[in-house]
Amino acid sequence: MTLFLVLLAAAALAAWWHVRRQRTEDAAQHRRDLDALRQRHVEQLEADQRRLETLLDSMLDGLVVLDMNGRIALANRAAETLFGFSRQMIGGTLLEAIRHHEVAALAARLQTEPAILDHELQLEGVPPRVLQVNAIALRDAAGATTGAMLVFHDLTRMRELEGARQEFVANVSHELRTPLSLIKGAAETLLDGTKSDPAALDRLLQIIDRHADRLTLLIDDLLLLAKLDSGRLVLHLQPAPLRVAVQEVFDDLAKRAAAREVRLENAIADGLVASADPDRLRQVFSNLIDNGIKYGRVGGVLTVSARALGNGRIEVCVRDDGPGIPREALARVFERFYRVDKARSREQGGTGLGLAIVKHAVQGHGGEVRVESEPGQGTAFYFTLQAV
Ligand code: ADP
Repeated sequence: MTLFLVLLAAAALAAWWHVRRQRTEDAAQHRRDLDALRQRHVEQLEADQRRLETLLDSMLDGLVVLDMNGRIALANRAAETLFGFSRQMIGGTLLEAIRHHEVAALAARLQTEPAILDHELQLEGVPPRVLQVNAIALRDAAGATTGAMLVFHDLTRMRELEGARQEFVANVSHELRTPLSLIKGAAETLLDGTKSDPAALDRLLQIIDRHADRLTLLIDDLLLLAKLDSGRLVLHLQPAPLRVAVQEVFDDLAKRAAAREVRLENAIADGLVASADPDRLRQVFSNLIDNGIKYGRVGGVLTVSARALGNGRIEVCVRDDGPGIPREALARVFERFYRVDKARSREQGGTGLGLAIVKHAVQGHGGEVRVESEPGQGTAFYFTLQAV
């Protein structure tokens, strides 16, 4: 009986021990499962965080998120670049990072306003910048403020382009109005009865003819420039022997050169052949050589030369020995409608677009153009083309 009881107790003990061990093992397994799950969650969160950071850093707009105490919780790369602060500023105040009272004031307004949209901000600096700011208060489900988000969109480039477009339209209108008003004036004088005076009649008709030509030239140049600018102009590249191309333009402009007693010298060696669209190449030479005649010295020399650069490219030089271009104007002569001497250019029939066309045509061929000039020492325009 005693043995039976002992055996029973032993069996009970063994069963209890088994159950306990099983429970311990189950608990350990459960812990391991939980750890693995937690690890998976942490990895998932880290991956999500990296994805979010990559996404935010690839944004062109600057983004700053503030916590409920007004401290920076998050800022993307564009915001750092715009305001020149480093990632160490995370946790600091907006004023510490951005040092701009207007931005801090905007964020403060979000205490009472849900959002401030399209606020324009001027940033001083070189160059000064214009930013559009959208500031939005962040709230939880119960409506309590949890922070703020500020998005900065850089408008500087757009404003510059807008300014350039407005200036261009104003310039075009002005350029069109001048010959038009001269044509109108001549026509009105004719209508007023000058028809009976043959000398006056001839003079007025010549004014109309000359300024109608000028308008045509201007419109042709504008259309060509627009095509070159938009990349719509398809270049038909062909082997272009440069000496021949220059000689053709010399022949076209021989009368104009003779009128100013300018000697034209073609110093290009025979074997130099570039890959170019013949019409555009002719235009480039024509504009540069015509300028050399117009703005060069009466009785001077205009020389066109070229050399192989050894990297598969050819550099062409159109040089005159005229009064040159003032140093401060050198960087601007390729701009549309920029003229050193407005009256002189108009008197010579210039549209103010010749060098802009040269620049776009050369760049369209993958080449570059530059100018060198010393006052009193003449001017040299250089451009490069691909050799054949
Ligand atoms: P434009 O129709 O006035 O000649 P361009 O664009 O061809 O327009 O030239 C712009 C300006 O650059 C000219 O008005 C002139 O002041 C200056 N310029 C161009 N070529 C020369 C040159 N060879 N020598 C001196 N000034 C020049």
